[in-house]
Amino acid sequence: MHIHLINLGCARNQVDSEIMTGRLKQAGHRITNDPEKAETIIINTCCFIEDAADESIDTILAAAAYKETGRCQRLIVAGCLPERYREDVQQALPEADFFLGTGAYDRIVAAVDGTPEAPLKCLLPHPDTLPPQTVDTPRALPQGPMAYLKISEGCDRHCTFCIIPRLRGHQKSRPMADILQEARAMAAAGIKELVLVGQETTRYGHDRQDGGPQLADLLTELSAIDEALWIRFMYGHPESLSDAILETVASRPNLCAYFDIPIQHANIEILRRMGRPDDPQHIHTLVKRIRTRMPAAALRTTVIVGFPGETEAHFAELQEFIDAIAFDHLGVFTYSDAEDLASHRLEGHVPAEIARERRDILMAQQRRISEARMERYLGQTVDVLLEECPEPGLYLGRTMFQAPEVDGLTYVRPRESQPALAVGQFVRTRITDTLEYDLVGEPE
Ligand code: SF4
Repeated sequence: MHIHLINLGCARNQVDSEIMTGRLKQAGHRITNDPEKAETIIINTCCFIEDAADESIDTILAAAAYKETGRCQRLIVAGCLPERYREDVQQALPEADFFLGTGAYDRIVAAVDGTPEAPLKCLLPHPDTLPPQTVDTPRALPQGPMAYLKISEGCDRHCTFCIIPRLRGHQKSRPMADILQEARAMAAAGIKELVLVGQETTRYGHDRQDGGPQLADLLTELSAIDEALWIRFMYGHPESLSDAILETVASRPNLCAYFDIPIQHANIEILRRMGRPDDPQHIHTLVKRIRTRMPAAALRTTVIVGFPGETEAHFAELQEFIDAIAFDHLGVFTYSDAEDLASHRLEGHVPAEIARERRDILMAQQRRISEARMERYLGQTVDVLLEECPEPGLYLGRTMFQAPEVDGLTYVRPRESQPALAVGQFVRTRITDTLEYDLVGEPE
């Protein structure tokens, strides 16, 4: 059978989609990029905020049209949307033939084949019952030189705005030996950068009671696989980003000095309403520690504006904090309300228009900060991993200080007299220009 799979959402979903693709290929199905030619279309959905849920629904409806215009006979909706909305989504989307929750990714072949294992219209077992990914789990690797590596699933925290623990269950760390085996196989297959993902990567191993390996241990082992292999971790937490992790990153050149630490807000009252344990002074101290130990390090964070109870004064405090820290990369979300969130019951909901205004103000502020932070690379020579060649003589890549998909890019233009380059190659690049979020350079 020809299958077309559409992945939406975050890097963790991307890994789930690659595993579903691997399982389907192993079962003899063919994957096609053309939805017209597919007998089955799968949409791996996202719904962490309202916009993401809307995008998922629009994508499902657009895919349903191939039942009329293409060969599609079976439309499968997988992932977070059916997990969150269960019966409601089944009733709202009669176009879909099958629903597969986050605890049932391993049964994708049965869902496609319609075998007796999946006789019903949906499979929604609890996410904690999903057998953990192992090195033997089939997975279709991405085309480019970068791959995500999931080191844990689920989250044990209770941020009041977040639905993830309900959709993905408790934190379950993969055994270190298993992760290392997968990492070695990916490096042998030509992957040049591994990006570790999980709901809270800096808490890797904390769910095991046996005092086993934690993120610093895992990073040490991963960095020894190949000194040319970049290792980066995303989705950290300021509370669990330990000194041991910082020291490990500082001591190994192939561990990216890049810290993704979503803070969500900088006012203590709002942080408490969010159910976050952090305190702004601790975040200041942490950032100072990172920059003192690794002056070249890049910092990324995300914040939510318009959270229930956020006043003009709270927002002004957040603005001051963002100015004072000068993060290299910043993502700003407006608060997304839903009845199944603990934050829904809080007093003082902020009108959506005000939240949007605050987001735009903060993004304009960050544009200036980012531009100034980018200028520090001017004239420097840095390694760039080439990921695309959109036209002859132009390559798109990233430095260690730019994460895939969420940060800017580095444009590399070799001079005519220079040898040809190839996607997947690291190139020593002299930065000749800087833009608001991107860098421009030429090979040394
Ligand atoms: S730590 Fe992250 S994934 Fe966990 S509940 Fe908070 S926001 Fe959600």
